Amino acid sequence: MKAPNAEIVSIGTELLQAASADTNSLYLVEQLQGIGIEISYRTVVGDDRRRIHQVLQEALDRADVVVVTGGLGPTQDDRTRDALADVSGRRLVLHSKTLKGIEERFARRAVAMPEAAKRQAWVPEGFVVLDNRHGTAPGLLWEEGERLLVALPGPPREMHPLFVEQVLPVLLRMAGNGQRIRARTVKVCGLFESQVEERMKELLHGDHPPVSLLARPGEVHVRVTAAGRGEEVESQLQLWEEKLRNLLGEAVFGVDEERLEEAIGWLLRRAGKTVAIAESCTGGLICHRITNVPSSSDYFKRGIVSYSNRAKEDLLGVPFSVIERHGAVSPEVAVAMAAGVRRVAGTDLGVGVTGIAGPGGGSETKPVGLTFIALADAQGEEWCEHRFRFDREGNKLWASQMALEMLRRYLLKISGQD
Ligand code: ATP
Repeated sequence: MKAPNAEIVSIGTELLQAASADTNSLYLVEQLQGIGIEISYRTVVGDDRRRIHQVLQEALDRADVVVVTGGLGPTQDDRTRDALADVSGRRLVLHSKTLKGIEERFARRAVAMPEAAKRQAWVPEGFVVLDNRHGTAPGLLWEEGERLLVALPGPPREMHPLFVEQVLPVLLRMAGNGQRIRARTVKVCGLFESQVEERMKELLHGDHPPVSLLARPGEVHVRVTAAGRGEEVESQLQLWEEKLRNLLGEAVFGVDEERLEEAIGWLLRRAGKTVAIAESCTGGLICHRITNVPSSSDYFKRGIVSYSNRAKEDLLGVPFSVIERHGAVSPEVAVAMAAGVRRVAGTDLGVGVTGIAGPGGGSETKPVGLTFIALADAQGEEWCEHRFRFDREGNKLWASQMALEMLRRYLLKISGQD
Protein backbone atom coordinates (compact mmCIF):
# COMPACT_ATOMS: atom_id res chain seq x y z
CA MET A 1 0.00 0.00 0.00
CA LYS A 2 1.36 3.41 -0.92
CA ALA A 3 1.65 5.83 1.99
CA PRO A 4 0.14 9.30 1.49
CA ASN A 5 2.49 12.18 0.82
CA ALA A 6 2.16 15.60 2.38
CA GLU A 7 3.07 19.23 1.90
CA ILE A 8 3.47 21.79 4.62
CA VAL A 9 2.68 25.45 4.07
CA SER A 10 3.77 27.98 6.69
CA ILE A 11 2.06 31.34 6.40
CA GLY A 12 3.34 34.63 7.77
CA THR A 13 5.36 37.52 6.36
CA GLU A 14 7.52 37.44 9.49
CA LEU A 15 8.65 33.92 8.54
CA LEU A 16 10.28 35.36 5.44
CA GLN A 17 12.54 37.49 7.64
CA ALA A 18 15.86 36.30 9.03
CA ALA A 19 14.72 36.74 12.64
CA SER A 20 11.85 34.19 12.63
CA ALA A 21 12.37 30.46 12.38
CA ASP A 22 9.65 28.28 10.88
CA THR A 23 9.71 25.75 13.70
CA ASN A 24 6.09 24.71 13.07
CA SER A 25 7.00 22.96 9.87
CA LEU A 26 9.87 21.10 11.57
CA TYR A 27 7.42 19.89 14.18
CA LEU A 28 4.98 18.79 11.49
CA VAL A 29 7.69 17.00 9.50
CA GLU A 30 8.56 14.96 12.55
CA GLN A 31 4.94 14.18 13.35
CA LEU A 32 4.01 13.23 9.80
CA GLN A 33 7.10 11.15 9.19
CA GLY A 34 6.43 9.50 12.53
CA ILE A 35 3.33 7.92 11.03
CA GLY A 36 5.01 7.10 7.75
CA ILE A 37 3.76 10.08 5.73
CA GLU A 38 6.48 11.43 3.47
CA ILE A 39 6.97 15.16 2.99
CA SER A 40 7.31 16.28 -0.61
CA TYR A 41 7.40 20.09 -0.19
CA ARG A 42 7.70 22.70 2.55
CA THR A 43 6.73 26.22 1.56
CA VAL A 44 6.81 29.54 3.39
CA VAL A 45 4.54 32.27 2.05
CA GLY A 46 3.82 35.80 3.30
CA ASP A 47 0.43 37.17 4.37
CA ASP A 48 -0.84 37.77 0.85
CA ARG A 49 -4.21 36.31 -0.13
CA ARG A 50 -3.37 35.81 -3.81
CA ARG A 51 -0.01 34.17 -3.13
CA ILE A 52 -1.41 31.92 -0.41
CA HIS A 53 -4.19 30.86 -2.78
CA GLN A 54 -1.64 30.05 -5.47
CA VAL A 55 0.59 28.03 -3.12
CA LEU A 56 -2.39 26.11 -1.74
CA GLN A 57 -3.67 25.36 -5.23
CA GLU A 58 -0.30 23.94 -6.27
CA ALA A 59 0.00 21.94 -3.08
CA LEU A 60 -3.47 20.43 -3.49
CA ASP A 61 -2.65 19.50 -7.10
CA ARG A 62 0.40 17.53 -5.94
CA ALA A 63 -0.19 16.14 -2.47
CA ASP A 64 -2.63 13.90 -0.62
CA VAL A 65 -2.31 15.94 2.56
CA VAL A 66 -1.70 19.69 2.88
CA VAL A 67 -1.07 21.09 6.36
CA VAL A 68 -1.11 24.87 6.70
CA THR A 69 -0.10 26.87 9.78
CA GLY A 70 -0.52 30.54 10.62
CA GLY A 71 -2.59 33.45 9.42
CA LEU A 72 -5.82 32.37 11.11
CA GLY A 73 -5.83 35.14 13.71
CA PRO A 74 -8.06 38.21 14.01
CA THR A 75 -5.95 40.88 12.33
CA GLN A 76 -6.15 42.25 8.81
CA ASP A 77 -2.93 40.53 7.82
CA ASP A 78 -4.32 37.10 8.68
CA ARG A 79 -5.42 35.99 5.22
CA THR A 80 -5.45 32.19 5.48
CA ARG A 81 -9.23 31.93 5.88
CA ASP A 82 -9.84 33.95 2.70
CA ALA A 83 -7.33 31.88 0.76
CA LEU A 84 -8.91 28.64 1.99
CA ALA A 85 -12.25 29.90 0.77
CA ASP A 86 -10.71 30.84 -2.59
CA VAL A 87 -8.99 27.49 -3.13
CA SER A 88 -11.98 25.41 -2.07
CA GLY A 89 -14.48 27.57 -3.95
CA ARG A 90 -16.52 27.91 -0.75
CA ARG A 91 -17.85 31.10 0.77
CA LEU A 92 -17.10 32.17 4.33
CA VAL A 93 -19.96 31.61 6.75
CA LEU A 94 -20.31 32.59 10.39
CA HIS A 95 -19.73 29.61 12.69
CA SER A 96 -21.92 30.45 15.66
CA LYS A 97 -20.39 27.94 18.09
CA THR A 98 -16.93 29.40 17.49
CA LEU A 99 -18.28 32.94 17.90
CA LYS A 100 -19.87 31.95 21.20
CA GLY A 101 -16.58 30.39 22.35
CA ILE A 102 -14.65 33.56 21.51
CA GLU A 103 -17.21 35.76 23.29
CA GLU A 104 -17.05 33.54 26.36
CA ARG A 105 -13.25 33.63 26.40
CA PHE A 106 -13.26 37.43 26.48
CA ALA A 107 -16.05 37.49 29.07
CA ARG A 108 -14.13 35.14 31.36
CA ARG A 109 -11.19 37.52 31.29
CA ALA A 110 -13.54 40.50 31.76
CA VAL A 111 -12.12 42.13 28.64
CA ALA A 112 -14.29 43.84 26.01
CA MET A 113 -14.20 41.81 22.81
CA PRO A 114 -12.70 43.73 19.90
CA GLU A 115 -14.81 43.63 16.75
CA ALA A 116 -11.87 42.08 14.87
CA ALA A 117 -11.94 38.97 17.06
CA LYS A 118 -15.17 37.96 15.30
CA ARG A 119 -13.23 37.45 12.08
CA GLN A 120 -11.97 34.17 13.49
CA ALA A 121 -15.52 32.77 13.58
CA TRP A 122 -15.92 33.05 9.79
CA VAL A 123 -15.05 29.74 8.20
CA PRO A 124 -15.28 28.34 4.67
CA GLU A 125 -18.58 26.52 4.30
CA GLY A 126 -18.29 22.74 4.70
CA PHE A 127 -14.97 22.83 6.54
CA VAL A 128 -14.77 20.95 9.84
CA VAL A 129 -14.02 23.40 12.65
CA LEU A 130 -11.37 22.18 15.10
CA ASP A 131 -11.94 23.59 18.55
CA ASN A 132 -8.84 25.40 19.88
CA ARG A 133 -8.63 25.07 23.69
CA HIS A 134 -5.48 27.18 23.89
CA GLY A 135 -6.49 30.19 21.82
CA THR A 136 -9.31 31.82 19.90
CA ALA A 137 -8.60 30.94 16.26
CA PRO A 138 -10.01 27.46 15.48
CA GLY A 139 -8.31 25.02 13.17
CA LEU A 140 -10.01 24.08 9.90
CA LEU A 141 -10.14 20.76 8.11
CA TRP A 142 -11.44 19.92 4.65
CA GLU A 143 -11.63 16.41 3.26
CA GLU A 144 -12.26 16.34 -0.44
CA GLY A 145 -12.20 12.91 -2.03
CA GLU A 146 -8.85 11.38 -1.17
CA ARG A 147 -7.26 14.67 -0.22
CA LEU A 148 -7.05 16.44 3.09
CA LEU A 149 -6.45 20.13 3.70
CA VAL A 150 -5.82 21.23 7.27
CA ALA A 151 -5.20 24.75 8.56
CA LEU A 152 -3.90 25.31 12.09
CA PRO A 153 -3.16 28.47 14.07
CA GLY A 154 0.45 29.68 14.09
CA PRO A 155 1.37 29.80 17.80
CA PRO A 156 3.09 26.48 18.55
CA ARG A 157 1.35 26.09 21.91
CA GLU A 158 -1.98 26.14 20.08
CA MET A 159 -0.88 24.25 16.99
CA HIS A 160 0.77 21.25 18.67
CA PRO A 161 -2.20 20.05 20.77
CA LEU A 162 -4.64 20.72 17.93
CA PHE A 163 -2.54 18.62 15.60
CA VAL A 164 -2.06 15.73 18.01
CA GLU A 165 -5.61 15.63 19.32
CA GLN A 166 -7.67 16.39 16.23
CA VAL A 167 -5.60 15.95 13.08
CA LEU A 168 -3.41 12.94 13.83
CA PRO A 169 -6.40 10.56 14.28
CA VAL A 170 -7.72 11.57 10.83
CA LEU A 171 -4.30 11.07 9.25
CA LEU A 172 -3.84 7.68 10.87
CA ARG A 173 -7.19 6.60 9.47
CA MET A 174 -6.26 7.97 6.06
CA ALA A 175 -2.82 6.42 6.16
CA GLY A 176 -4.21 3.00 5.56
CA ASN A 177 -7.88 2.03 5.63
CA GLY A 178 -7.64 0.74 9.15
CA GLN A 179 -3.97 0.01 8.66
CA ARG A 180 -1.50 1.82 10.83
CA ILE A 181 1.76 3.23 9.67
CA ARG A 182 4.42 3.39 12.33
CA ALA A 183 8.07 4.32 12.31
CA ARG A 184 10.99 3.35 14.50
CA THR A 185 14.36 5.03 14.67
CA VAL A 186 17.37 2.91 15.51
CA LYS A 187 20.21 5.15 16.72
CA VAL A 188 23.83 4.47 16.01
CA CYS A 189 27.06 5.96 17.32
CA GLY A 190 30.67 5.29 16.41
CA LEU A 191 30.07 4.66 12.68
CA PHE A 192 29.99 7.14 9.82
CA GLU A 193 26.87 7.37 7.69
CA SER A 194 28.68 5.68 4.79
CA GLN A 195 29.70 2.78 7.04
CA VAL A 196 26.13 2.37 8.23
CA GLU A 197 24.94 2.44 4.62
CA GLU A 198 27.52 -0.17 3.64
CA ARG A 199 26.43 -2.52 6.39
CA MET A 200 22.77 -2.13 5.47
CA LYS A 201 23.04 -2.09 1.71
CA GLU A 202 20.91 -5.21 1.33
CA LEU A 203 18.01 -3.27 2.91
CA LEU A 204 18.32 -0.15 0.78
CA HIS A 205 17.25 -1.61 -2.58
CA GLY A 206 14.38 -0.39 -4.75
CA ASP A 207 12.71 2.97 -5.29
CA HIS A 208 11.09 3.36 -1.90
CA PRO A 209 12.93 1.24 0.65
CA PRO A 210 11.23 1.35 4.06
CA VAL A 211 14.59 2.30 5.58
CA SER A 212 16.23 5.72 5.45
CA LEU A 213 19.34 7.24 7.03
CA LEU A 214 19.73 10.57 8.75
CA ALA A 215 23.13 11.88 9.89
CA ARG A 216 23.14 13.79 13.19
CA PRO A 217 26.17 15.24 15.01
CA GLY A 218 28.10 12.14 16.08
CA GLU A 219 25.15 9.85 15.42
CA VAL A 220 23.36 8.17 12.54
CA HIS A 221 19.64 7.54 12.79
CA VAL A 222 18.18 4.66 10.81
CA ARG A 223 14.49 5.09 10.36
CA VAL A 224 12.21 2.28 9.35
CA THR A 225 8.50 2.40 8.59
CA ALA A 226 6.01 -0.43 8.54
CA ALA A 227 2.31 -0.69 7.69
CA GLY A 228 -0.16 -3.17 9.07
CA ARG A 229 -3.11 -3.71 11.35
CA GLY A 230 -3.03 -3.66 15.15
CA GLU A 231 -0.26 -5.76 16.62
CA GLU A 232 1.01 -6.71 13.16
CA VAL A 233 2.69 -3.35 12.65
CA GLU A 234 4.47 -3.56 16.00
CA SER A 235 5.80 -7.05 15.31
CA GLN A 236 7.03 -5.90 11.87
CA LEU A 237 8.92 -3.05 13.50
CA GLN A 238 10.33 -5.44 16.06
CA LEU A 239 11.65 -7.66 13.28
CA TRP A 240 13.21 -4.66 11.56
CA GLU A 241 14.84 -3.55 14.77
CA GLU A 242 16.34 -7.01 15.30
CA LYS A 243 17.59 -7.09 11.72
CA LEU A 244 19.24 -3.68 12.14
CA ARG A 245 20.75 -4.62 15.50
CA ASN A 246 22.25 -7.73 13.87
CA LEU A 247 23.76 -5.70 11.04
CA LEU A 248 24.97 -2.78 13.15
CA GLY A 249 25.89 -4.60 16.35
CA GLU A 250 27.19 -2.60 19.29
CA ALA A 251 27.03 0.63 17.33
CA VAL A 252 23.29 0.71 18.16
CA PHE A 253 22.79 2.59 21.41
CA GLY A 254 19.03 3.07 21.47
CA VAL A 255 15.74 3.51 19.64
CA ASP A 256 13.33 6.42 19.09
CA GLU A 257 13.64 9.02 21.87
CA GLU A 258 16.52 7.33 23.72
CA ARG A 259 19.61 9.52 24.01
CA LEU A 260 23.23 8.45 24.24
CA GLU A 261 23.50 9.78 27.80
CA GLU A 262 20.53 7.64 28.82
CA ALA A 263 22.15 4.54 27.35
CA ILE A 264 25.28 5.32 29.37
CA GLY A 265 23.28 5.84 32.54
CA TRP A 266 21.68 2.49 32.07
CA LEU A 267 25.03 0.76 31.44
CA LEU A 268 26.70 2.44 34.45
CA ARG A 269 23.83 1.39 36.66
CA ARG A 270 23.95 -2.16 35.37
CA ALA A 271 27.73 -2.34 35.91
CA GLY A 272 27.41 -0.74 39.36
CA LYS A 273 30.08 1.83 38.43
CA THR A 274 30.41 5.51 39.26
CA VAL A 275 32.01 8.19 37.08
CA ALA A 276 33.51 11.67 37.30
CA ILE A 277 34.31 13.95 34.36
CA ALA A 278 37.07 16.53 33.86
CA GLU A 279 36.35 18.86 30.95
CA SER A 280 38.37 21.52 29.26
CA CYS A 281 37.25 22.42 25.70
CA THR A 282 33.70 21.11 26.24
CA GLY A 283 33.18 23.56 29.12
CA GLY A 284 30.76 21.38 31.08
CA LEU A 285 28.72 20.08 28.16
CA ILE A 286 29.39 16.42 28.97
CA CYS A 287 28.32 16.90 32.59
CA HIS A 288 25.26 18.79 31.39
CA ARG A 289 24.26 15.93 29.13
CA ILE A 290 24.87 13.24 31.74
CA THR A 291 22.88 15.16 34.36
CA ASN A 292 19.97 15.66 31.95
CA VAL A 293 19.06 12.08 32.81
CA PRO A 294 16.87 11.81 35.94
CA SER A 295 18.56 10.11 38.94
CA SER A 296 22.00 10.42 37.33
CA SER A 297 23.32 11.23 40.83
CA ASP A 298 23.27 7.45 41.41
CA TYR A 299 26.34 7.09 39.18
CA PHE A 300 27.63 10.58 38.31
CA LYS A 301 29.61 12.02 41.23
CA ARG A 302 31.64 15.00 40.13
CA GLY A 303 32.31 17.23 37.16
CA ILE A 304 35.22 19.66 36.95
CA VAL A 305 35.62 22.28 34.24
CA SER A 306 39.38 22.81 34.32
CA TYR A 307 39.68 25.40 31.59
CA SER A 308 43.05 26.90 32.55
CA ASN A 309 46.37 25.16 33.14
CA ARG A 310 46.20 26.35 36.73
CA ALA A 311 42.83 24.68 37.21
CA LYS A 312 44.19 21.44 35.78
CA GLU A 313 47.03 21.57 38.29
CA ASP A 314 45.06 22.79 41.32
CA LEU A 315 41.88 20.78 40.92
CA LEU A 316 43.07 17.62 39.20
CA GLY A 317 46.73 17.38 40.16
CA VAL A 318 47.93 17.43 36.54
CA PRO A 319 51.71 18.02 36.94
CA PHE A 320 52.83 21.36 35.52
CA SER A 321 55.80 19.59 33.95
CA VAL A 322 53.43 17.41 31.86
CA ILE A 323 51.53 20.47 30.62
CA GLU A 324 54.79 22.26 29.87
CA ARG A 325 56.36 19.34 28.05
CA HIS A 326 53.37 18.15 26.00
CA GLY A 327 51.02 21.15 25.91
CA ALA A 328 47.52 21.41 27.44
CA VAL A 329 46.04 19.67 24.39
CA SER A 330 47.85 16.35 24.45
CA PRO A 331 47.17 12.70 25.26
CA GLU A 332 49.32 13.01 28.37
CA VAL A 333 47.20 15.83 29.80
CA ALA A 334 43.93 14.08 28.89
CA VAL A 335 45.16 10.97 30.69
CA ALA A 336 46.29 12.97 33.73
CA MET A 337 42.90 14.74 33.82
CA ALA A 338 40.99 11.43 33.69
CA ALA A 339 43.17 9.85 36.40
CA GLY A 340 43.06 13.05 38.46
CA VAL A 341 39.29 13.45 38.46
CA ARG A 342 38.86 9.76 39.26
CA ARG A 343 41.18 10.17 42.23
CA VAL A 344 39.73 13.37 43.66
CA ALA A 345 36.13 12.17 43.21
CA GLY A 346 36.81 8.63 44.46
CA THR A 347 34.87 7.10 41.56
CA ASP A 348 35.39 3.86 39.63
CA LEU A 349 35.90 5.74 36.38
CA GLY A 350 37.27 9.11 35.29
CA VAL A 351 36.99 10.83 31.92
CA GLY A 352 39.24 13.69 30.75
CA VAL A 353 38.72 15.84 27.65
CA THR A 354 41.06 18.46 26.27
CA GLY A 355 40.98 20.01 22.82
CA ILE A 356 40.95 23.13 20.66
CA ALA A 357 37.34 24.19 20.00
CA GLY A 358 38.40 27.10 17.75
CA PRO A 359 38.11 29.24 15.78
CA GLY A 360 41.48 30.51 17.14
CA GLY A 361 44.19 28.70 19.05
CA GLY A 362 45.18 26.17 16.39
CA SER A 363 48.62 25.61 14.90
CA GLU A 364 50.07 23.44 12.15
CA THR A 365 50.83 20.58 14.51
CA LYS A 366 47.78 21.12 16.68
CA PRO A 367 44.93 22.30 14.44
CA VAL A 368 41.52 23.56 15.54
CA GLY A 369 39.33 20.56 16.33
CA LEU A 370 42.15 18.41 17.68
CA THR A 371 40.78 16.71 20.80
CA PHE A 372 42.07 14.06 23.17
CA ILE A 373 39.74 12.02 25.32
CA ALA A 374 40.96 9.70 28.08
CA LEU A 375 39.27 7.21 30.33
CA ALA A 376 40.73 5.97 33.61
CA ASP A 377 39.79 2.98 35.75
CA ALA A 378 41.56 1.10 38.55
CA GLN A 379 43.74 -0.72 36.01
CA GLY A 380 45.05 2.33 34.19
CA GLU A 381 44.11 4.72 31.39
CA GLU A 382 43.31 4.63 27.69
CA TRP A 383 42.98 7.59 25.34
CA CYS A 384 41.91 8.45 21.79
CA GLU A 385 42.47 11.33 19.40
CA HIS A 386 39.90 13.12 17.22
CA ARG A 387 40.16 15.85 14.62
CA PHE A 388 36.83 17.60 14.27
CA ARG A 389 36.19 20.06 11.46
CA PHE A 390 33.18 22.01 12.62
CA ASP A 391 32.60 25.44 14.13
CA ARG A 392 33.20 26.01 17.82
CA GLU A 393 29.84 24.69 19.00
CA GLY A 394 30.01 21.78 16.57
CA ASN A 395 33.46 20.79 17.82
CA LYS A 396 32.25 20.95 21.41
CA LEU A 397 29.19 18.86 20.62
CA TRP A 398 31.23 16.24 18.76
CA ALA A 399 33.81 16.11 21.56
CA SER A 400 31.05 15.51 24.12
CA GLN A 401 29.54 12.87 21.86
CA MET A 402 32.81 11.02 21.37
CA ALA A 403 33.60 11.14 25.11
CA LEU A 404 30.21 9.62 25.89
CA GLU A 405 30.74 7.05 23.16
CA MET A 406 34.14 6.07 24.58
CA LEU A 407 32.53 5.56 27.95
CA ARG A 408 29.72 3.52 26.40
CA ARG A 409 32.11 1.23 24.52
CA TYR A 410 34.14 0.72 27.70
CA LEU A 411 31.00 -0.22 29.64
CA LEU A 412 29.92 -2.63 26.89
CA LYS A 413 33.38 -4.22 26.95
CA ILE A 414 33.42 -4.77 30.70
CA SER A 415 29.85 -6.09 30.66
CA GLY A 416 31.05 -8.76 28.19
CA GLN A 417 33.77 -9.76 30.65
CA ASP A 418 31.34 -10.58 33.48
P1 ATP B 1 -3.05 34.29 16.14
O1 ATP B 1 -4.43 33.98 16.57
O2 ATP B 1 -2.10 34.26 17.30
O3 ATP B 1 -2.92 35.52 15.29
P2 ATP B 1 -2.37 32.94 13.67
O4 ATP B 1 -2.85 31.63 13.19
O5 ATP B 1 -2.84 34.14 12.94
O6 ATP B 1 -2.66 33.01 15.23
P3 ATP B 1 0.12 34.04 13.12
O7 ATP B 1 -0.47 35.38 13.41
O8 ATP B 1 0.49 33.70 11.75
O9 ATP B 1 -0.84 32.92 13.65
O10 ATP B 1 1.32 33.78 14.09
C1 ATP B 1 1.19 34.03 15.48
C2 ATP B 1 2.51 33.69 16.16
O11 ATP B 1 2.71 32.28 16.09
C3 ATP B 1 3.74 34.28 15.50
O12 ATP B 1 4.04 35.55 15.97
C4 ATP B 1 4.80 33.29 15.90
O13 ATP B 1 5.25 33.57 17.21
C5 ATP B 1 4.07 31.98 15.91
N1 ATP B 1 4.22 31.28 14.61
C6 ATP B 1 3.50 31.46 13.50
N2 ATP B 1 3.92 30.65 12.52
C7 ATP B 1 4.95 29.97 13.00
C8 ATP B 1 5.85 28.98 12.46
N3 ATP B 1 5.70 28.53 11.21
N4 ATP B 1 6.81 28.50 13.26
C9 ATP B 1 6.93 28.93 14.53
N5 ATP B 1 6.13 29.85 15.11
C10 ATP B 1 5.17 30.38 14.35
